[in-house]
Amino acid sequence: MRHQLTSGVFARRAAALVGALLATAAGAATVPDSESIAAQLRDAAMAGHDIAYNWVSELTTRVGPRPAGSDNEHAAAEWAAGRLKALGFANVRIEPFPITAWRRGTESASLLTPIFQPLVIATLGESPPTPPQGVKAEVVLFPTLEALKQAAPGSLSGKIAMITQRMVRAQDGAGYAAAVAGRTDGPHEAALRGAGAFLLRSVGTDDHRIAHTGTARYYDGRVEIPAFALSNPDADQIERLVAGGEKVRVQLFSTASYVRGAHSQNVIADVPGRERPQEVVLLGAHLDSWDQGTGAIDDGTGTAIIVAAAELIHDLRQRPRRTVRVVLYGSEEVAQPDGPGGAFGGHAYADAHKAELANHVLAGESDLGTDRIYEVALPKSVLGGEFAQTVLRVLTPIGVLLGPRPPEDAGTDIGPSVEAGVPAFLLNQDAMRYFDIHHTPDDTLDKVDRAQLGQNVAAWAALTWLAADSTVDFRAAPPVRP
Ligand code: ZN
Ligand code: ZN
Repeated sequence: MRHQLTSGVFARRAAALVGALLATAAGAATVPDSESIAAQLRDAAMAGHDIAYNWVSELTTRVGPRPAGSDNEHAAAEWAAGRLKALGFANVRIEPFPITAWRRGTESASLLTPIFQPLVIATLGESPPTPPQGVKAEVVLFPTLEALKQAAPGSLSGKIAMITQRMVRAQDGAGYAAAVAGRTDGPHEAALRGAGAFLLRSVGTDDHRIAHTGTARYYDGRVEIPAFALSNPDADQIERLVAGGEKVRVQLFSTASYVRGAHSQNVIADVPGRERPQEVVLLGAHLDSWDQGTGAIDDGTGTAIIVAAAELIHDLRQRPRRTVRVVLYGSEEVAQPDGPGGAFGGHAYADAHKAELANHVLAGESDLGTDRIYEVALPKSVLGGEFAQTVLRVLTPIGVLLGPRPPEDAGTDIGPSVEAGVPAFLLNQDAMRYFDIHHTPDDTLDKVDRAQLGQNVAAWAALTWLAADSTVDFRAAPPVRP
């Protein structure tokens, strides 16, 4: 097992490879066209993907877990800024913003009746602690969040409400969207009906005794009751006992806490454009992670993919017409849409760069792990036009289809910029494996598939180049077809 902690030699090798490919294609006198350069970037990334792997290896090994607002997250930002400068990016800067940080503390759970059994749980992000003696109560099961909402006010007084919905495994990750509202909104709905604590079958597709954490949502500035995810096998056990007519009591314990006056930060770096430097193609991913693993696939590989793609473009002899900007967002995991201030990286970036957003011509985000890209979704303005056909010709050889529709949700981090009018693309990754690992202690470097990581870099580098080297107006009205 080889773990390289320095990437310079590999960066230079990849750069030399791109240079050699360009020289071959260009001949002595001609300058290669934009599509040829995109194809060469693609092939260079497929041939050698050490920039991305070494980035995620170094980030997860040297820094480790990066909870929002923690010392580790700050260290990750300093490390990333230093690395981006060393790679030759321009305008490298760290932009801080305030947050209230959340710390897990210690946690435990067990079945008390009808049998004693330790349970595997993870406190949900932003959950308050239990009382020092824990919460001991009967569990009431609901198949979905909607079913919980049907319970009468006060009917859960002195009880623990539990949602048992199982996440569906699907290539496009649609099972996550279908189940995650139970995690974000379940604690609030349970508290409204008098529950003393909230339990959730993990929003995850594995059958291991690991629990998947993730944030709960703030209502009126707080998460009202202690909230926990339970491993899938433990949720099965409770469901079987209840189905057998047993009254199930559990004990839950957590010392979670809040750190007021903390801060997080976005890390920003540019490859300046040669003709239209004020026009920006934005590539985003998030630098924070959950605390139990080392945030390799969520979202270490996302940051690695976009940095490697921009670095391959940076190493070309010719700059693209427009600026390529990499934004490594802070505090994505603890997004609090209804919380005080909603202070997380995507909002902080859109606020701080409000005046520039009209010149952000296109944005994309990588935040679904390391597995291969199978489809590209482009803005409505270019579907059916020459730009989409060029993208298709370049990406077809690495197994990427052209999606028939623009992206519905291009990502959490770029969301506030997209809401402000920035057009978005989406490179859809195969999510069949992702939610076995997502938000668990198993999110570690060994889960990164190097060949598939390279395919991601290839697609990102080629598409980013085509957009940045073009003059296409992605905001424009869709073309009229005969
Ligand atoms: Zn993520
Ligand atoms: Zn996440």
